[in-house]
Amino acid sequence: MYMLILTATERGTMKLATYRRNGEDAVGIVLPDGIVPLALVAPDAPSTMRAVLSWMPDNAVDLAGAPALPLESVQLLPVVPDPGAVWCAALTYLSHIREGGDRPVPEYPLFFLRVANSQMGHGQPMLIPAVSSELDYEGELAVVIGRRGRDIPMDRALEHVAGYTCYNDGSVRDWQRHTTQITMGKNFDATGGFGPWLVTPDEFGDPSTHRIMTRLNGAVMQDTGIDQLLFPIEYLIHYISTVSTLEVGDVIVTGTSGGVGVRRKPPLFMQPGDVVEVEIDGIGILRNPIELAPVGPSAFRPFHPAIS
Ligand code: MG
Repeated sequence: MYMLILTATERGTMKLATYRRNGEDAVGIVLPDGIVPLALVAPDAPSTMRAVLSWMPDNAVDLAGAPALPLESVQLLPVVPDPGAVWCAALTYLSHIREGGDRPVPEYPLFFLRVANSQMGHGQPMLIPAVSSELDYEGELAVVIGRRGRDIPMDRALEHVAGYTCYNDGSVRDWQRHTTQITMGKNFDATGGFGPWLVTPDEFGDPSTHRIMTRLNGAVMQDTGIDQLLFPIEYLIHYISTVSTLEVGDVIVTGTSGGVGVRRKPPLFMQPGDVVEVEIDGIGILRNPIELAPVGPSAFRPFHPAIS
């Protein structure tokens, strides 16, 4: 029934996930009835998503009769748990630019980077750090790179895409505003939801025909068509790869639309016990419960140089 050719860029029709089961991390193929460990149907396949994305284009796998594990029996992890780079675009939707006041539309996309430890998978808690009570959601489309490249022209850019998934660019707003660079507020441990799984481009189709919705405790907070993205995905790939080689497993997070909590009146920040969801039609739902970071009160004290 499922005879699939795995390919990062051409004919693959599938959903791929990284998961943990019995303490071991693995890559699986998500089917309607569960998840099939890749190792079960392709014993020669590598065991990490980054390696699988490189292996995919040249290998076929036959899923006929392969037993699927119930999805509830595994812990999904970030789609790529160890990306070389997570390039996050900001101010890419007019609705989000405008809700921040009289901000001009940027001439170039604004980027910050995320570290791997800032991510978590579907179902894993998103953590409010001890030093803040201003954890906010940002529902976004993530693009995962499947073929490395430098100086990628726009008309070849989508050939480098392995697939798409949901991202919740969880943001600690007060730390985001410490300086003019927002990086610190975007990198607290377990604030970046990444999943639930990768959907290959042929299955997802044209991203601009899809919608992203963010819900907090079931209430819709953000809802936009991806056709509202100011900079096309092809241009984001072109722009980044002019600077830096895009590697297999690198991630581009494409920015958020209007409706974030910090711009509401009064501002709305996520609380322990909340449940946040990012849904993109054609992918699925990335759901994370909100919890306090289990580290206790922070010993952090600001240090200000004495020179004024
Ligand atoms: Mg964002």
